[in-house]
Amino acid sequence: GGGAAAAAPPAPLAVGRAERPRDLVFVTAEAAPWSKTGGLGDVMGALPRSLAARGHRVMVVSPRYLAPSAVKRYAGIADTGVRARLNLDPPGAAKGAGGGGVHEVGFHHLHQDGVDWVFVDHISYHREGTPYGNAAGTYGDNLFRFALLCMAACEAPLLLHVGGHRYGKPPGLPYGQNVTFIANDWHAGLVPVYVAAKYRRHGVYREARCVLALHNLAHQGAHPPRTFNSLGLPGEWYGALEWVDTGDNGPGGGGSATGSQDGGARHHLQRVSTINIMKAAMVTCDKLVTVSPAYAWEVCDEKGEQGMGLTSLLRQRMGDLLGIVNGIDVGEWDPRTDPYIPRNYHEGSLGGKGLCKAALQQELGLPVDPAAPLLGFIGRLDYQKGPDLVLGVLRPLVAAGCQVVLLGSGAADYEEAFTAAQKAFPANVRAHVGFSVPLSHKILAASDILLMPSRFEPCGLNQMYAMRYGTVPVAHGTGGLRDTIDDVNPFRGEGFTAAGGMMGDNDADKELDELFEKGLAWGRPTGGRSADDPSTNNADFYEPFQDYFGAGGRYGAVADGAEEDDE
Ligand code: ADP
Repeated sequence: GGGAAAAAPPAPLAVGRAERPRDLVFVTAEAAPWSKTGGLGDVMGALPRSLAARGHRVMVVSPRYLAPSAVKRYAGIADTGVRARLNLDPPGAAKGAGGGGVHEVGFHHLHQDGVDWVFVDHISYHREGTPYGNAAGTYGDNLFRFALLCMAACEAPLLLHVGGHRYGKPPGLPYGQNVTFIANDWHAGLVPVYVAAKYRRHGVYREARCVLALHNLAHQGAHPPRTFNSLGLPGEWYGALEWVDTGDNGPGGGGSATGSQDGGARHHLQRVSTINIMKAAMVTCDKLVTVSPAYAWEVCDEKGEQGMGLTSLLRQRMGDLLGIVNGIDVGEWDPRTDPYIPRNYHEGSLGGKGLCKAALQQELGLPVDPAAPLLGFIGRLDYQKGPDLVLGVLRPLVAAGCQVVLLGSGAADYEEAFTAAQKAFPANVRAHVGFSVPLSHKILAASDILLMPSRFEPCGLNQMYAMRYGTVPVAHGTGGLRDTIDDVNPFRGEGFTAAGGMMGDNDADKELDELFEKGLAWGRPTGGRSADDPSTNNADFYEPFQDYFGAGGRYGAVADGAEEDDE
């Protein structure tokens, strides 16, 4: 970017040190810059680095999405040569009895910014599209793909000689057994299940701990019961995964706020037994974190629908649930240094922001007019994000002389509506259907106002980026939007204390660290049970959740028609 002369150099980040460094293993479907569809990718690209800077040894395990178009992204990341044969048949099952089969994965590794980035290699990750699907829809084998990720992630600390970069240990050692897994959303949800069901019974990972990070409960990994046999789990663990959708609320229920037209109301009249990976993770993890304090409160609110059918279970684990606002990468999102914007600026040189606005108006063929309010929208085109709410007010906005720039991709009907809006208001509205990181930076810098009318928002990152770019976020008072939008925020601080005084600031790394220090030391001893304890092998051990095991019997017939809710 030009105009750096006016910009003050970014102040170095003051990073605290962890009292007792841990061995952390993040497991995630996305990690920017290698993979990103939304906030999960951003956070998994940034938070591990900052925890490493605090002195932890940090590994991030994600799939190697080696589509032909992505080959360049993974160039220079070395193959460790280590391969693992992962068995997705139920243990002890006779050969050919039906199951998930045995699959070999590879491990690629990059040590960068103090983090061991581990990429699990398997041919099912090598597709064009997002991590979850393509134009034809969600991949039908996502349960398999992410079960493989979880199994590989459980093996990585034991197998890979990549550790030792931290606290003076000699390099080249495996992380070993005393790790803390941080499993992100349902894609990583089988990690705590495998730790409990497959490893501890053999005396491995006795002292490991598992934190489940909830980024979005709209996606739970619900699958038909028959798929249980393809997860490599002992039969007695079926109850830990089973979830009976009572149709009260959530993805299967009527009137839910998910808008997941896919999940929909199709089966809400039946009581359908499913296996639900998110639920299984909730009952087997040591601690749960949500990506904002407000979301922690909302998902536990009986009147709300944010628990998406899992509210009662979340309430049972409230004592282990903590809301921590996602941090943002203040290096990547900094108008003083942002390489994607035509003029760098800071709060003392806002003329630069005006130049960014003029440049974007010109680039998009809008009238170059500093007086026209420029409103931006960036997001996944999903009911959650409220793109229809923006489209619904375009006419009065245009009548008032506003310019509106829309960037998003997702549901086909919204994509079409975006394109149609540009046609309807050619002098005021531009819609870019697609995923473009450079354009998202330009819109944040150029806009006067960022519209974020999310119906629910576990955290949301764009509002925080906007505030760093001198762009006013206009948002619904929900979830992380309530927690993070400063200044003229009439909703801030309302109501969250119900879940135990969970107000947070923005030091996600520091707060997580405190959770490791305090929370995991005194938490429920799920993680610390010795392998000699027979209850370790038994779902009954998770006694506070007994109601959630074996529910199939009580509700009668197990139907096989559960919706797949993959993303
Ligand atoms: P979510 O994770 O629910 O999608 P967040 O606000 O937490 O929402 O994070 C969204 C991230 O994805 C932001 O970095 C945003 O800029 C980015 N993003 C979303 N849609 C697009 C798009 N079409 N092009 C570029 N970036 C996008």
